[in-house]
Amino acid sequence: MTEDDPVNVIPARMVNEFVYCPRLFYLEFVDRLFAENDDVAQGRHTHRRVDQPGGDLDELPAHPAIRARSVWLSSESLGLAARIDMVQGDGDSVLPVDYKKGVAPAEGVWPSDEVQVGVQVLLLRDHGYRCDRAAVWYEGGRERRYVEVGDALTARVLELAAEMRVVASAARAPLPLISSPKCPRCSLVGLCLPDETNARLARSQLPPRRIVPRDPDHRPLYITEPGAFVGVSRGRVEVTRDKEKLESVRLIDVSQVSVFGRVQVSTQALTEFFARDIPVFYFSYGGWLNGSATGLPAKNVELRRRQVTASADFASRAAVRMVEGKIRNSRTLLRRNGRGDVRLVVAQLAELVGAAGRAVRTAELLGIEGTAARLYFSQFNAMLRAAPPDGLPVFDFAGRNRRPPRDPVNALLSFCYSLLTKDLLGVLLGVGFDPYQGVYHRPRFGRPALALDLAEEFRPLVADSVVVTVLNNGELTAADFLSRAGGVQLTPEGRRTVLRAYERRLDQEVTHPEFKYRISYRRVMDVQARVLAAYLLGELPDYVPFVTR
Ligand code: SF4
Repeated sequence: MTEDDPVNVIPARMVNEFVYCPRLFYLEFVDRLFAENDDVAQGRHTHRRVDQPGGDLDELPAHPAIRARSVWLSSESLGLAARIDMVQGDGDSVLPVDYKKGVAPAEGVWPSDEVQVGVQVLLLRDHGYRCDRAAVWYEGGRERRYVEVGDALTARVLELAAEMRVVASAARAPLPLISSPKCPRCSLVGLCLPDETNARLARSQLPPRRIVPRDPDHRPLYITEPGAFVGVSRGRVEVTRDKEKLESVRLIDVSQVSVFGRVQVSTQALTEFFARDIPVFYFSYGGWLNGSATGLPAKNVELRRRQVTASADFASRAAVRMVEGKIRNSRTLLRRNGRGDVRLVVAQLAELVGAAGRAVRTAELLGIEGTAARLYFSQFNAMLRAAPPDGLPVFDFAGRNRRPPRDPVNALLSFCYSLLTKDLLGVLLGVGFDPYQGVYHRPRFGRPALALDLAEEFRPLVADSVVVTVLNNGELTAADFLSRAGGVQLTPEGRRTVLRAYERRLDQEVTHPEFKYRISYRRVMDVQARVLAAYLLGELPDYVPFVTR
């Protein structure tokens, strides 16, 4: 049996995770989620030498000085497996040694480390070696601690393995720990959302701690220059054109890549992007999102199964909340930015929020959303500056049109909606969704229906807000638009201006209305996608859209 076999054995590392937190075990072992944090990176650094296989296990008892490194053992009868960092001779027996990055507790070893090395001892015995104890090397304090593996620890390990099998066969993860000091150090805290989930389930009266990152620390890369070539060299993304270097960024700083029009991406670069879960988005020259390229599909089978099998009622409840969120956020944007008397439309939008909440059929919801959109766009002009300074052009908006947009404001709206769809598509793929299976927008060939669903609440907050800002701040002039065949589109320079404004908006922090901590819009998108996943998996009773006041 090898490490790559389909799992009918539980790795010792997972026993360690289970003792730390059963939910962490489930997310890693069943959902196959992984996230890098400082602890994970430090752990890899600690293991850098012992992860190189070497030495011969069979020679150890006869030659105690010999050490075998990175030894893989598994046992179907125990249902356990382990990659042991190091095994060394120990008199007439062998001694497994596990390397840990942290410091040892005041006495002995940490409970999760104890069971992990307990598994290693059981495996060595199962393979015919005499083994009575194990050692843990704590790199932080540079000391070795020993663990005697007697009957009590053996029984505890076997009991845990049985419990883990029960948890692993459940349809969803155990609920998060409550206000645990373990969570801030957990690599999956940003994916697990422990305090947020507990608050929504009323399992904790304490306000959620801000332990999820405010903002992801890597950024999208946009390549808008026609004829550019994207390659990868020595851990950097290199963008060139005719041998001239246009841009060079570290791969670890890139979250996604968007290319516009005639831009080539090398196979080598694509391979690197896929290995690092960096999606590549292909836009037309005019800014239309044509497609995306990603690595292998998500491994979260249960989530995609629930997406497909969610009952019409279950899905439509989420759809109702999304439309409510969109209308409420449209109303807020108009109320804050509308010049002149927009009170009537603001009041009508408030009524439509209530009507959407009472809708029971999708057709009804579509009608309400359509009416709200018509009302909102009838006042969109009221949010644009009527008399820009210094002779800047007046941008007029007489109603929504698209494919192709026939005026600059519609061209901007369409472009920003494409960017938003692109970002939500990336977020949904990262969470493990099938982005083509929507809960509100009907599935149609090639349409990322779920990304469009989730975009509803963000359209006013992100896309419309960017359009209003760039026009009112005079960041664009008439020269930033091109008219072609009855359609209007941005010039490359105009597009770069909008991309900068769009990224600024995503970086902007806002107080989360429910959790009360500061968080960037970029991060809010990820949180909302995870809340939707928790709802579809039955962990949360409702989908709550992100709305601002
Ligand atoms: S964040 Fe907390 S509850 Fe969630 S998996 Fe990690 S330790 Fe468990």
